[in-house]
Amino acid sequence: MSPADRDAPNGAPTQADEHTHDEPANASAAAARRVSGLVAELERRGITNEAEIGALIERFLAGARPHNGALLVARAWTDPDFKTLLLRDANAAIERLGMDLSHWAPVRLRAVENTAHIHNVIVCTLCSCYPIALLGPSPSWYKSEAYRSRVVREPRRVLREFGCELDDSVEIRVWDSTAELRYIVIPRRPPNTADRDETRLAACVSRDALIGVAFAAAPSRPGPASETASERVAGDQM
Ligand code: FE
Repeated sequence: MSPADRDAPNGAPTQADEHTHDEPANASAAAARRVSGLVAELERRGITNEAEIGALIERFLAGARPHNGALLVARAWTDPDFKTLLLRDANAAIERLGMDLSHWAPVRLRAVENTAHIHNVIVCTLCSCYPIALLGPSPSWYKSEAYRSRVVREPRRVLREFGCELDDSVEIRVWDSTAELRYIVIPRRPPNTADRDETRLAACVSRDALIGVAFAAAPSRPGPASETASERVAGDQM
């Protein structure tokens, strides 16, 4: 049994049963060659070209930011019916908010909710699968082998290194993402935020909170969600 199999919570997909894409180790050059060949063939057939593909990726990335995920969480915090839908069918929920998760491949999204007793954290044990449209481009530490292996093996310790200290009584669930199924964490709503509207609540939700390596926190001043809170921790220790 792989570490991912062993530590995945009941019902959580694991790399063994869902990961269908290639391990990137020592495969980047080969993948680049395949992509170049594919693009050349598409150009030869007059289907598309490298410039069009580049523009498509740029358009997608321009709208991909953690504020999208933060808005999703803020709505879930303020609208119980929406939260129910988000937990049951996250793709339908993001569609209701007018967000588009689709890009070059269909992706199924699953939202997992933190509670007083359960803390969720996401990883892709094989590479870097991640809901870019909702979280923005993934941080380098998320793609690092250290994070991918350690968060499965010793999640409590890794979370502590991120400054995410959990009581021993809190169960940690590690969700292994795949090319077809991505996760987003609904963090716990910070205390003393009852008077905040959705916009200000969204400012409490960082990218790292959406991954599960940080808590949502009310900023001292209203502002955009932090996107870099844990870079230093991960860069040094992952
Ligand atoms: Fe992956």
